[in-house]
Order: sequence, then C-alpha cells, then structure tokens
Amino acid sequence: MVAGLSVRKVECPVCSKPGLEIREVPYEVPGFGTMLIISMACPHCGFRHRDVLCLEFGEPKRYEFVVEGPEDLKARVIRSSSATIRIPELGVLIEPGPMAEGFISNVEGVLDRVERAAMMMLHFAEAPSQRARAHEVLAKIWDAKQGRLRFTLIIDDPLGNSLIAPEDKSRVKVRRLTEEEVRELKSGPFVPIDVRWARATGQAEGGSERGEG
Ligand SMILES: [Zn+2]
Repeated sequence: MVAGLSVRKVECPVCSKPGLEIREVPYEVPGFGTMLIISMACPHCGFRHRDVLCLEFGEPKRYEFVVEGPEDLKARVIRSSSATIRIPELGVLIEPGPMAEGFISNVEGVLDRVERAAMMMLHFAEAPSQRARAHEVLAKIWDAKQGRLRFTLIIDDPLGNSLIAPEDKSRVKVRRLTEEEVRELKSGPFVPIDVRWARATGQAEGGSERGEG
C-alpha cells in the first residue's frame, strides 16, 4: 500500500458506465508544495489518463530555469498534461497534444523526450535539409545532456499544475502568465473538468482562469 493512496470510482466520462477508477497519491515537492499524482482507467471502454495536479496554486504560470551545468540536469520537473515546454536554444517547442499526459521527471528526462522526438524527426525526414536540421538539433541535445550547453527550460501551464524545482529555489523564475499568453497556449487533452478537479475543489486557490473570447 502506497502512503496516502486513495482510490475511488466514478462514472466514466467517455462511455458513461460506472467504474472509472481514479487513483491519487500525494507527492511532496520540498519548498514548492504538494502535488497529486493521478491515474484513471476505465475497465469498460479502455479510457486511460495519467496526470499531475498541484493543490496549492492553480493559476496560469510560467517557470523559467537556466541550466548551467551537469548538476542542473537533476532539477525536478513536473509537467502536467496542459503544459507547454520550450527550450529556445534548441529550437524546442512541445505543445500538449490530445493524448498528452502528465509526468514527474527531471531536466535530463525532458531532454530524453526531446531526443526521442528529434530521432523520429530524423527517421521521417525526406529532404536533405530536414535531415541536416535533425542532426543539428541532436548534436545540441547531446551537448545539453552532457551539461556542456547552457540552455533555458521554460514551462507554461495555463492551469498552474506544473513546476521546475531546482534545489536552489531562487534560481527558478516564476511569474503569472498574462491573459494574452494564456490564449496563445494549447490547452491539452480533453479531460472532463468535474473528474479532474473533483478532489481539488475547495483546496486549490482560484482554479483555471483561462480568458475567454
Ligand atoms: Zn469508459
């Protein structure tokens, strides 16, 4: 039994049958707050989703962290399904697609994901210019993974469920996203709000403040 694990069953938002199992485990990020790791699975239609939810914040936020060397690759990264990841120096932009899921990893883990995406890009590249571009990105990613390239990791989350948590908290820049910035972001997969926020209601401050129109 995992400490703090709670399991409950609700009506599945996809097939409407009762029995969608939601498992939640609290996850403490020292100096930053408590996250909730959530996984849901429906035995009837196969709907599954994994995500992270921040109980403390819940407002649109940008986290920005400059990676200076190998030690910084260990900084904790919590990315929810609604977050957009950018690494300007590598030309990387990862937007939340319809199947996006949350994960808890570190800066190196983010680079691993970027590397896999670049390998796919190389695999499917047809034009020589596309192949050259993929090789160039891969070379930079490998430098970054060795801690030889200084780069900036930026995570924008309109729901405020993501974090970059280096040991020295003062090195991460955190600010609220403007309404215009929030409008520019992709919102991620459709996960019914009532399921997603059921547990956090009354605990999260504010909730989503995505601008309309
Ligand atoms: Zn279902």
